[in-house]
Amino acid sequence: MAERHVEFALIGGGLASGNCARWLREEGADGSILLIGREPDLPYNRPDCSKGYLQGKAAREDVFFRPPEWYEEQRVEALTRVTVSKLSLSERRLELSDRQVVTFDKALLATGANVRRLSVPGCELSGIHYLRTLGNSESIRDDASGKRVVLIGGSYIASEVAASLTERGSSCSLVMLEPVALSRTFGEQAGRFFQDRLEEHGIQVHGDDALERFEGADGRITKVVTKAGKELDADAVVIGAGVMPEVTLARAAGLELGETGGVLADSKLATSVPGIYVAGDIAEYDSVVHRRRLRVEHWDVAFNQGKTAGLNMLGRDQPHDVVPYFFSDLSDWASLEYVGPALQWDREIVRGALDDGEFAIFYLDGGRVAAALSVGRSDDLEHARRLITSHADVTDHADELADLSSDLASI
Ligand SMILES: Cc1cc2nc3c(=O)[nH]c(=O)nc-3n(C[C@H](O)[C@H](O)[C@H](O)COP(=O)(O)OP(=O)(O)OC[C@H]3O[C@@H](n4cnc5c(N)ncnc54)[C@H](O)[C@@H]3O)c2cc1C
Repeated sequence: MAERHVEFALIGGGLASGNCARWLREEGADGSILLIGREPDLPYNRPDCSKGYLQGKAAREDVFFRPPEWYEEQRVEALTRVTVSKLSLSERRLELSDRQVVTFDKALLATGANVRRLSVPGCELSGIHYLRTLGNSESIRDDASGKRVVLIGGSYIASEVAASLTERGSSCSLVMLEPVALSRTFGEQAGRFFQDRLEEHGIQVHGDDALERFEGADGRITKVVTKAGKELDADAVVIGAGVMPEVTLARAAGLELGETGGVLADSKLATSVPGIYVAGDIAEYDSVVHRRRLRVEHWDVAFNQGKTAGLNMLGRDQPHDVVPYFFSDLSDWASLEYVGPALQWDREIVRGALDDGEFAIFYLDGGRVAAALSVGRSDDLEHARRLITSHADVTDHADELADLSSDLASI
């Protein structure tokens, strides 16, 4: 077995690792950087998989974090189709699926998340898809365009895919547990706004229901049967039932896992083992912003945590203090941005009017801003970030939050 040593080992071939490599070099790291990913592609932007790339509007080369030549220029050795099969914390050693053994000085664990698979009768039929990778997006585009498609799930993946496939001539229905699409994260009034956009474009939404089973003919999906007894004809199905952090390697190595199943880290994204950091979907870190442990599966979080981890691998001692930001597009019918996240809230204050198609919603928990949503009012999110970070009680400022003519900077 070949054995070699690198200064920085970045485990996982996603955005968090890609941006970590970038910041290591930008901040002057001179040593060897090895990025190891098991997908066939270099790090890319997953959000395109349910949006422009699925719609056929974005070219494949446009979805990558950096073009292939960047890795050479930056002396970042990026392996694709290679899995890290073993991590030894005491020996600082990796075993790779291509039979290489690599020792390292510092490592980032950024193994991301895997889709949650549903096990119901008929789930083995062909034509049933999950979406995590560029390859999945291509299979869905090839298999579901122009057909009758049932989406399972009421969160952003199912909603975005329904919108994108509708743009490709598919006739889409959504089956979900939630009463209203996107309501679990954004509440019922915002959810209603987004669901109206879906329904306006002919998407049938079946809320307060659940998947019972799939039926098929000749091994291929033909029908989705719901718990409420609805029978929906389907040529293809896309399931968006959430994700689970990919912690196989971390667990086997003995790293401590948290309540949400992620790898525990301090506010600087350092694990309990010196020199081992985490970032992105697997990182369950002590958030100095939220004053609690947090794990967030957002593009922007993976991006920014990759940077924080990189700086701390260089000894910068920097807490991760960025307020998590999320965005989603239902084709070009509606776009949302969100800062938070609010795990719970007891009051929603709407700034502007939902009917106008431009509004913000502040989510309050015990008088404090826990999160905010914007549709066409990005500037409001700047103020929301400040209010989330300050933990200020805004109970007495509810009218100003709601009033479009009041200056949020004064709160
Ligand atoms: C279709 C889709 C749309 C999305 N849209 C949005 C959006 O609009 N807005 C938003 O904020 N977020 C969105 N997200 C979420 C966002 O893309 C993720 O939060 C982000 O990609 C997480 O990055 P990561 O680097 O932590 O993990 P990942 O992107 O999952 O990358 C981890 C990589 O590591 C690899 N890996 C795992 N284990 C090993 C191992 N042992 N050895 C080698 N490699 C390994 C994985 O295969 C994967 O390639 C979307 C996600 C999907 C799937």
